[in-house]
Amino acid sequence: MGTAHSKARWKAGARVVMMGLDSAGKSTLLYKLKSNQLVKTSPTVGFNVEALEIPGQLSLTLWDIGGQDQLRCRWKDYLEGTDSLLYVLDSTDPDRLSDALAELEKVLNDANMVGVPFVVLANKQEVPGALSLLEIKSRLNLEQFNNHNWELRGCSALTGEGLAEAWHALIRLLKSPRRMPPP
Ligand code: GDP
Repeated sequence: MGTAHSKARWKAGARVVMMGLDSAGKSTLLYKLKSNQLVKTSPTVGFNVEALEIPGQLSLTLWDIGGQDQLRCRWKDYLEGTDSLLYVLDSTDPDRLSDALAELEKVLNDANMVGVPFVVLANKQEVPGALSLLEIKSRLNLEQFNNHNWELRGCSALTGEGLAEAWHALIRLLKSPRRMPPP
């Protein structure tokens, strides 16, 4: 169990990285965040990375991970100074949940991610038969990540349901003291 670090991770221009396997719904989510005015953005699109900036609040950089070993060295570069991670899952794809977990573990094991809080966004919740949050929590064994503050939220990037709550969870985590591993 980690100990609370006194420094909260809320600051102007907090760095948030959004990651997940391909097809989890990250681009759709980004588009929805922009279009429903949850955030005001000036997007830029670069080489395999999308980013948005909310001036004075935060920057968000989006990466597909998994199956892209040649890109991993690039996204690792972007983890330095990360304040929070948004990890997007496809709740309708139980077969790739273990891949998603393996990739999440790799990201959180990066030296830059020690104690960095994260939100797991279980996307596509509006689809009948989607995995429930309880199932996802237990299959990912999220309690193993107790060296980080984390929250699990359900959402639908398609309908926008749950996005405001997820956004609030992210802000809450950024404002809370960072957990640090025991010495
Ligand atoms: P990315 O690879 O993670 O950026 O995933 P995309 O945003 O490209 O989405 C992959 C596919 O999933 C697309 O066909 C989207 O329309 C679909 N999708 C994304 N979010 C949702 C959602 O919340 N519900 C449903 N039913 N489909 C979604």
